[in-house]
Amino acid sequence: MGKIKVGILGSTGSVGQRYVNALRDHPWFEVVALSASEASVGKKYKEAAKWVLDKEMPEGMAEMEIVRATPSEIKGSGAEVVFSALPSEVARRTEMEMAKAGLFVVADTSAHRMDPDVPLLIPEVNFEHLAAVETQRKKHGGFIVTGPNCTTIGLAISLKPIQIKFGIRRVLVSTMQALSGAGFFGVPSMAILDNIIPYIKNEEEKVASELLKILGSFKEGCFENANIKVGASCHRVCVLDGHTEAVFLETEKGASPDEVAKCMSDFTSEPQRLRLPSAPERPIIVRNEPDRPQPRLDRLSGTPERAKGMATVVGRVRKEAALDNGIKYVLLSHNTIRGAAGNAILIAECLKAKGII
Ligand code: NAP
Repeated sequence: MGKIKVGILGSTGSVGQRYVNALRDHPWFEVVALSASEASVGKKYKEAAKWVLDKEMPEGMAEMEIVRATPSEIKGSGAEVVFSALPSEVARRTEMEMAKAGLFVVADTSAHRMDPDVPLLIPEVNFEHLAAVETQRKKHGGFIVTGPNCTTIGLAISLKPIQIKFGIRRVLVSTMQALSGAGFFGVPSMAILDNIIPYIKNEEEKVASELLKILGSFKEGCFENANIKVGASCHRVCVLDGHTEAVFLETEKGASPDEVAKCMSDFTSEPQRLRLPSAPERPIIVRNEPDRPQPRLDRLSGTPERAKGMATVVGRVRKEAALDNGIKYVLLSHNTIRGAAGNAILIAECLKAKGII
């Protein structure tokens, strides 16, 4: 059987480049359309993209001509699946137009994350929410599945096994977020060198609302939020890639740090059972050294090779005496791989493995 043809919207940006890199030799998907803004349309990808990854730009894609982000141009290329890394203000209209044209959209953008019939998906965490696409398919012909904000994703992965085993009452998180999370032109160097910026617009609200949808249930055609209290404080730091988060939580049942660490490192889910190409063998890697995880050392964690950057790395799991049944730990998650393109590709692999596309 031939590969599924895919297009990438926003292919020249921080996240778009991660797609181009990860899809260069994908066993199931073939890139047939690369799209970007009007300023890039008609240029070769190698002229339009300011390539920042250390692996060379894939030769085949370097020569491809950038097309417009319209359903007719994307469908004209033969693509059935569209990965969207558009700015969110453009994404709302464009992604819906693509779904209404019968395309299957997997989006990293925030535009449709909280829509009542759109799954907000991390395949290891809430695989069953995929059922919601059938309602959309009846309405539009195509559908949209979204991945969470890059800050929510590692947090949700680390919390899922704790939620299953011990229950969770309350979560507080303080983040140290990488520069690539703001896009290529996001934070001027004069603002961030020798500095920390203690504000990221709308980020704290997104972490709280998205986490509750992801850790909640999908019953009788409706999403129901998890009953957990969530508070977040988000900060931009001078790190290139990889969001670090200090997490504090109250479990329902008492649990020792060793029990929490064990349930995280034992955690596997549907993508591992299905042996999907981009699924990390261990979604959570727990490190015992007192000074890990660190972005430079740990952001590309995950095996096999295709899953590098897909594992959430957790360290310093310990008791928090200031909370009831309190536990605290530090996590690291690669924001443009697991936090965006890698998670979206894993979603598309799920859609294929389950026969939805
Ligand atoms: P970025 O580096 O600024 O890239 C934006 C991309 O969108 C570029 O390819 C740009 O093309 C294209 N674009 C801009 N305006 C357009 C328009 N009107 N029509 C069509 N294409 C247009 O942004 P990013 O960091 O990759 O983020 C992309 C999306 O992913 C955002 O919604 C962001 O919130 C989300 N996200 C980002 C991360 C992260 O860690 N960076 C993680 C999760 C989710 P040109 O090159 O031609 O300008």
